[in-house]
Parts: sequence; C-alpha cells; structure tokens
Amino acid sequence: MKNLLKSFFVLIAGIALLVRCGDDGNSVIDTENPGTKPKDVVVTPHSYLSEDEYDQLLIEFVYVDGYKPLDASIRQLRSFLSERLHKSKGIGVRLTAIPSPGKATYSLDDLRAIEETHRTQYPEDNKLAAWFFLADADYAGNKENSKVLGVAYGSSSMTIFEKTIHEFSGGLGEPSQHVLETTVIEHEFCHVMGLVNAGTGMVQNHEDTEHEHHCDNDNCLMYYAAETSNFLSNFIGSSVPDLDQNCIRDLQNNGGR
Ligand SMILES: [Zn+2]
Ligand SMILES: [Zn+2]
Repeated sequence: MKNLLKSFFVLIAGIALLVRCGDDGNSVIDTENPGTKPKDVVVTPHSYLSEDEYDQLLIEFVYVDGYKPLDASIRQLRSFLSERLHKSKGIGVRLTAIPSPGKATYSLDDLRAIEETHRTQYPEDNKLAAWFFLADADYAGNKENSKVLGVAYGSSSMTIFEKTIHEFSGGLGEPSQHVLETTVIEHEFCHVMGLVNAGTGMVQNHEDTEHEHHCDNDNCLMYYAAETSNFLSNFIGSSVPDLDQNCIRDLQNNGGR
C-alpha cells in the first residue's frame, strides 16, 4: 500500500525521479524538472511494466556520430524487455545520428538540453516512449577514481556515456563493448522501471544499504557496479548479468512479467 501511495504521489505531483548513480551510488529526487511542458506526460514504472495504459513502446536512441550502439546490443535489450514488459503491440526502436555537440563533458543540464532539442518521441495514445542519448564525452560529475557509464533521470530519459564505455571495454581483461554497453543500457532501463525501491516497491528488502536504489546481490544486473567504471572484473565478464529473483519479483508485483 505504501508503494502504491508512493507511485500515486509521483504521478499527481509530476515529480521526475532522478536516479543518478555515481561511484557513491547516491540518488537524489529531482524536483527541478516537474514536467510542465505539454509534451511531458509523466509516466510511472507501472506504465512500462503493465499494459493498463500503453500496449506498445518505442525506444528512441539518439547517438553522436561514431557512437552508434551495436545492433546486437539493441537486439538484446529488446529481448530482455519483452521478457519483463507487457507490450502486446510490440517494442520498437528508432535510431538517429547527430553531429557532436562539442562538449568536453556533459552535466545533467546539458543532457536535458540535448533531449529538449533532439527528442521526437513522447508517450501518446497507447504508445509509450523512452529516450536514450549516447554521449561522446564523459559525465561532468565523474570522480577521479570512477567514471559513470550511464544515468537515468526523469521518468523516461536515459544517457549512456558511450565514449566512456569504449574506453573501458574491448581491452585485455575488459568486457567486450557489446557486453558492457548492453549491461549499462539494461541497467538504466531498469531504473526507469523503478528498480530498486525507486518507484517499484520491494517484495522483500534487497536494497543495498550503501548504494541507494541498487540491489544487494553482486550477481544481479542492478548491482551498483554495473554502471561505473570500477565494476568488478568478475561482475561483468563474458555475458550480461541477469536480474536476480528479488528484482524480477518486484517488477512482477508492479505489473510486469
Ligand atoms: Zn544504477
Ligand atoms: Zn537484484
């Protein structure tokens, strides 16, 4: 009931939930972007998981030239989502390239400005939308010893720091670009779907006490290390981590598969 009330509050207040996870794993509630534009329909994790309001999903990827996500990563994301979401009319993808905005780093305000300029897909009728920007520079809030690989902010917006991912993949002892990129894309999408304890309630308590909105299981996709460059080498290996049972149960309990 508490979780239901929480979702309802988010819905009526129009507060965009910001799940920003750096090396400290801290997340904050963002009240700066309350969604007052007419195009801004505030969606909740339940909108993604269930079919109550939307029976199809269109995921828009806008990437900077040279930083296109791999076809295999997009395929894997779609298959991952189709196992967890009720979207009987399907999950579509739209990919668009843009020239480099010429930034040395990206702050959250920069990311919002880019979304404002380039996003074309918003929730409409029975079609839900989500937004990914694939950036050609690092996150401005990076700490010296750890770089952020992805962020989810607002109710349907994500950025993947693709240049940073290139830097930390493909080398000796590193995960492949495909594995790292897919891990971060799926991890951020799960934040939009309310994991962990970020709009989708927990059936059993499994939130990492040190890293808010992350799972305490170091084999789970929602372990905090998934989106930072200090991921443990044995955490991301030759395949993308799966969600554990606690995370899957939370999604199912909020309308998912
Ligand atoms: Zn995270
Ligand atoms: Zn988990």
